[in-house]
Amino acid sequence: MQYYSTNLLTPPTTFQKAVIEGLAKDKGLFMPEHIPTLPDDFFKRLPDMSLPQLAKEVALPFIGDELVKEEISQIIEEALNFDIPLVQLNEHTHILELFHGPTAAFKDVGARFMSRVMAHLLKDVGKKVYVLVATSGDTGSAVAQGFYKVPGIDVVILYPSGKVSKVQEMQFCTLGENITALEVDGTFDDCQRLVKTAFSDAHLREKLYLTSANSINIARLLPQSFYYFYAYAQLRRKSSDPVVFSVPSGNYGNLTAGLFAQQMGLPVHHFIAASNANDTVPLYLNGNPYSPKPSVATISNAMDVGDPSNFARMRTLFSDSLQKMQQHITGFSLKDEETRQTMQDIFEQYQYIIDPHGAVAYKAFQLYQQQNTQAVQGIILGTAHPAKFGEVVKDTLHIDPPMPSQLASCLGREKKSIPMAASFEELKAFLLEQV
Ligand SMILES: *Cc1c(COP(=O)(O)O)cnc(C)c1O
Repeated sequence: MQYYSTNLLTPPTTFQKAVIEGLAKDKGLFMPEHIPTLPDDFFKRLPDMSLPQLAKEVALPFIGDELVKEEISQIIEEALNFDIPLVQLNEHTHILELFHGPTAAFKDVGARFMSRVMAHLLKDVGKKVYVLVATSGDTGSAVAQGFYKVPGIDVVILYPSGKVSKVQEMQFCTLGENITALEVDGTFDDCQRLVKTAFSDAHLREKLYLTSANSINIARLLPQSFYYFYAYAQLRRKSSDPVVFSVPSGNYGNLTAGLFAQQMGLPVHHFIAASNANDTVPLYLNGNPYSPKPSVATISNAMDVGDPSNFARMRTLFSDSLQKMQQHITGFSLKDEETRQTMQDIFEQYQYIIDPHGAVAYKAFQLYQQQNTQAVQGIILGTAHPAKFGEVVKDTLHIDPPMPSQLASCLGREKKSIPMAASFEELKAFLLEQV
């Protein structure tokens, strides 16, 4: 399989190059030349398959012979070593709990898979590799955990000071070893811009071997399609209604992975792009010109993205046609008050504690149901454990969500971060000092 850049200004390349470079030299995002469709036989077996089993079949055509089959199997077994259960909330709604991994958020799936793929692909390079990543919260911890102590790889995390939750911050600021956290005086968009600028700086790239671990990396995106198949498999054991996925969205990697699954043949009836006040994509889906803007802070802060990077991929998947996109995706934007109200409603009705991101997706699915009378099954992607946003949960529900042990253990450690202005010159100087 060859990978091309969404900007079309660099020649197509191998999976290996696409993964290691992260972002193409023309600043485009890598896309597979075509989306392979899976055979009928796969879909017949799907309801009985385990997550690692189906993941191997989904991954194979994207990687081809660039890794041997046994390596792919090993990567998947190691990366997907936690369950992703589909929990029923009511007759028409299920929550796909994606937060049972080491950092209690769905980004574990992509980060664990990508770090292992990279380690395999880099075996022969023999140079130190720097993974540069901007985070609005959960990416940082998932990537830090994924790469922790992986030999030959140093991870540099940029995060907006004061704009991530305490638990999130402690998860990537307490590891040490090959993980460095830069605490940037600015917003997530500033961090993202700094990372992008670093990748396009020829001088820097000549001096050090840089790679990215944001959802722009194709090796983080691909594994996220696995759980759409797995959710569908679990649902099909009990219902044959059409399936609608409601996806709490920020950079739109998660939703894009769902679109990959659909184009591979997964019968998804519809997708919901559920956003908070950062409504760039919902506005576009409602017929407005596409217009990225600065992010605004909300209680679902992992989705505070005003200029979503994966939108370029969504566009190419629909040949740049708004009409085609609208056939498959409806967008909703929720206010924080609505998110809080939804958290309360869900707790009162089902005694289920949902995190603010999941709540946005749940409410968006309800709004979708009000506009569409056809009976469907909604699958809400539960992207984070509520304890990860314990402050918001406590404020809203007046209870402390139980803290999973993997989160509790980092809170007692010492925070190590390096403060930095939102200036590329400062970042560049820091990186050059490392070599
Ligand atoms: C990152 C994140 C999102 C947004 O996912 P994207 O792939 O960037 O759209 C949603 N919820 C949580 C909890 C996240 O950490």
